[in-house]
Parts: sequence; C-alpha cells; structure tokens
Amino acid sequence: MVNIEEAQQIILRHIALLPTEELPLLQGLGRVAGEDVTAPRDIPATDNSAMDGYAFSFAAVQGNSLFVSGNIPAGKERATPVPAGEAVRIMTGAPVPQGCDTVVPIENVETIGDTIRFLGEVRPGSHIRKRGEDIRAGQRAIAANSLLRPQEIGMLASLGKTSVRVYRRPRVGVLATGDELLEIGSPPAPGKIINSNSYSIAAQVAEAGGDPVMLGIAEDEVERTCDRIREGIRGDLLITTGGVSVGDRDCVKEAIVALGGEIKFWKVHMKPGKPLAFAILEGKPVFALPGNPAAAMISFDVFVRPALLKMTGHARIFRPTVTAALTEPIANKGDRPHLIRVRVEARQDGYVASATGNQSSARLSSLTAANGFMTIAPGTTLSSGESVVVSLLDRPEVLP
Ligand code: AMP
Ligand code: MG
Repeated sequence: MVNIEEAQQIILRHIALLPTEELPLLQGLGRVAGEDVTAPRDIPATDNSAMDGYAFSFAAVQGNSLFVSGNIPAGKERATPVPAGEAVRIMTGAPVPQGCDTVVPIENVETIGDTIRFLGEVRPGSHIRKRGEDIRAGQRAIAANSLLRPQEIGMLASLGKTSVRVYRRPRVGVLATGDELLEIGSPPAPGKIINSNSYSIAAQVAEAGGDPVMLGIAEDEVERTCDRIREGIRGDLLITTGGVSVGDRDCVKEAIVALGGEIKFWKVHMKPGKPLAFAILEGKPVFALPGNPAAAMISFDVFVRPALLKMTGHARIFRPTVTAALTEPIANKGDRPHLIRVRVEARQDGYVASATGNQSSARLSSLTAANGFMTIAPGTTLSSGESVVVSLLDRPEVLP
C-alpha cells in the first residue's frame, strides 16, 4: 500500500508528454503551447496615436494655438513630414507622422476654422504609443507550456499568426466493469444498477482536456475484461472502474497482468479510493479506479487528472488551493487520511468550508454539493473555526 503522494510520484514518473500538432489559431484555445512563440515584428509597428486628436511638434508650438494643415484617417500613413508649427488631425491608432511628437485629444481643444486652441495644459510626448512598447521583435510573446487563454490567442493574432503549435489531446478509454451494470436508457431490472461511472469519468476526462472513448461495460470475467482492455489500450491512456478490490469476481488486475501489463502499485492509503491500481500496459498508463461512484471520481481527480495535465504539457497540474475556516468540527476516527468533500464559500472575512454531509464512497450527492475537498489525517479532530487547506474543484460560492 502506498500513500497519496507516493502514488502521485509513481504515476507522474511514468507519464510522458504527448506529441504536438499545429492547429488553426482559434482551435488552440484551452490547449497548451508546444513551443515558445517569438514576435516576428514590433507591436505596435510604429509610433501611433492613443487618441482621436491632433498631432504636432511640441517644440514648435508658439502661443496656444496651431494651424491644422491635414488629416490622417485610420488605416492611412502620411508620407510627408508635418511642417513645424502646424498640426494634423489624427485618429486613434494612426501612425504618428514625421515632424510630430505629441498628440492633444479632440476634447482638449477648441476649433476655430482651420485652427485649434488648447483648452488645458499640453505635455510634450503625450498620447503617443511607442513602437514596440507592447512587444518587441525577437521577444518571447508566449512561453512553451503556457495555457492558451483568450488573451494568448489575441496576442498570437496580433503577431499575425494563423496557427499555433499545441500538445495533442489524449484519447482516453473509459471502461466500466460489473455484472450488475446497465447502460443508461435501459429499463430498471432487479439487482441491477446504472453505469454512472463511465459518464462521470468521461466528463472528468473531457474537462481535463482529453477525448473520452466509451468502451462500454465488461462483465466480471477475465476474458471479457481482457477483450475490452485490448481495445481500450489503443488510445493514450485507459481508465477502468470497479473490479479492483478483493471481491471474488474482481478481475481487472488479473486481466491487465494476463495481457502483459505491469502493476506499479495497488491500493492507496486513503479514504475513499483505497482499491486503486496503476499499471503500464503496452507502454500506456492504465488506471484501475474503484467502483464506488464517489471514490472513482475522487481518485480520478487526485491521480488521473494530474497525469492528463502532465501529458498535455501543462506547467501546473494540481488543483489550486485556498485556506478556509471550518464551519463545524470534523473528525477522522479511521486509520487512513480521509478526503472530505466540502463546500467553500467566500465571506467578507475569508473563506469558510463545510463538509457536504455523509461522505460514503457510494454517494454522488455529496460531490454534486461540493466545490472542493480537503484531507484530514487519521485519528484527528479539527474544531470549528480551524484553518484547513481546500483544493478547489471550481470557484467558491460568493454569498451576498
Ligand atoms: P466494485 O469495486 O466493482 O465491487 O464496485 C463497488 C461498488 O461500486 C458496487 O456497489 C458497484 O455496484 C458500484 N459500481 C461499480 N461500477 C459502477 C459503475 N460503473 N457505475 C455505478 N456504480 C458502480
Ligand atoms: Mg464490481
């Protein structure tokens, strides 16, 4: 039996980066950059006006008015220098013409025929965006392994990029095991339950940036399980649920070994999620997760999600955490660390966390009510108000 951190280390040691692919720019959203992107040119390409206004040479101003001798609309560049002592009308973003070093905004002048009069103080060099002030040619605009959010997509577009190199999405086989399982949509039958794990796990895979491949349900029998695993191992990673405990018909480990897989560990010192095996089969990682629905999802989050994020080039692979004050005492009378599903709320004086009721590994309702989880060490009682570290599954509630 390994502890949570050891299990994570063993897993991550066996996880390699997927290859990269070149995608049309917008399809790169949510992916991780596969290489540094260097700016091919200065942004902005020229000094340009930050305002709709008038451009002129500050040193040549005499008194507080100027003759306006021209107009530079957006998208046009003036070829000839502006004569000293004159101004030209200029639009936001238009290149500042030769002979000018200052822009005064329209709202700061009064126009009288062909002249403008300054209404307030004008400072030399004002309202001009300098060439290359956003990013310089040759400078790294996007670092390899950064997540491409809308702002990174915008930056790449401003550099004129039509495509972006990103890590490929992993194809992840999802296989449920159990004689008691029915596919969703089937009529209820005595002794049977619905296969919910395939859906919760596939949803977690998709949320972590993978493409789930549904492999259906394998009966609790080694040959059948082997057939499905053989099919599933064609992807980049395989997840099974159930059949990995100590029951008579728990045959997932046996099937993996029969196919030539190597079990790296079995059983993790945690609650829920103890019956979990990690194996390498045909060079691919295989996660045999427990069958209980909440245990399967929690062990996915703790072990599979970081592996998927590592494969796809993410620099940060663990959940963000916040410190929260407990709203009630929590005890762990057992001998394993207990991962408690909690609801975190943002209050005026900080975050508070409350357990989401019964923590049975079979109950999904305590996960639908949760937006985070915390770990409580064995044989420990935490009192109300005590500070705990919570891993956030999504954003904390903000209450009025
Ligand atoms: P197992 O480890 O296979 O004995 O499964 C433990 C518990 O989880 C049993 O009560 C199963 O019925 C339940 N379970 C296993 N697989 C699934 C599944 N795919 N969907 C929902 N519940 C499941
Ligand atoms: Mg089973």
